[in-house]
Amino acid sequence: MEIACLDLEGVLVPEIWIEFAQKTGIEELKATTRDIPDYDVLMKQRLRILDEHNLKIQDIQEVIATLKPLEGAVEFVNWLRERFQVIILSDTFYEFSQPLMRQLGFPTLFCHRLITDETGRVIDYKLRQADPKRQSIRALQTIYYRTIAAGDSYNDTTMLAEADAGILFHAPQNVIDEFPQFPAVQTYEDLKKEFIKASNRELTL
Ligand SMILES: [Mg+2]
Repeated sequence: MEIACLDLEGVLVPEIWIEFAQKTGIEELKATTRDIPDYDVLMKQRLRILDEHNLKIQDIQEVIATLKPLEGAVEFVNWLRERFQVIILSDTFYEFSQPLMRQLGFPTLFCHRLITDETGRVIDYKLRQADPKRQSIRALQTIYYRTIAAGDSYNDTTMLAEADAGILFHAPQNVIDEFPQFPAVQTYEDLKKEFIKASNRELTL
C-alpha cells in the first residue's frame, strides 16, 4: 500500500502567517524563520503581536477564511485522493489552518496546536513532536506503507529523504540546487506525473 504525504503551505495553500500579515496590515507578523531562526522566539513574538492587536482565535480564523487555496490545489488533492491515501504533514496549527482545510475538504492533517483560553485569546502553542514530518514517515513505514512525499522547503527535506520517494514542488532555486537528488516540479500537472512515476502501481493521469 502507498500513502502520499504532502506539505501544506507553499504546496496547497499560501504561507498562512504572511498572508495573514498582509490581510491585517500588521508588518511585524511577516517575520519568518528566515528572519528569526529560533522557532520558539518567532512564535512567542507572533503570539505577543496577536495579543497587542487584541486578535482572538475567532478574529484570526475570520481573516484566514478569506484566503484561498492555491489555484488548482483543490482539483489536485481530489485527483491524489482517488489514487492514494493522503496525509498532510505540516508545521502549521489546526486552529490556524481550519478555514483553508475546509476549502480542501478536510484531508487528514498532522500538525501542531494553538492553546487558547476561554475568551479565544491565544496563550501558547504546542508542537506535536520534534522533527514531526520525518517521524510521521517513519511511523508509516513501521506499518508497512510505502510513502511518497512532496514539499517546497527546507523543513520538508528530512521528510523527502525518509520517504520511499521525495518530490520538490514550488521549491525556490536554492533548495532545488542544494537537494538535486529530488525531482523538482512547478505545476500540479507535473506533480501528478511525478506521483505516477514514483508509484509502484500502474496509475494514469
Ligand atoms: Mg511549505
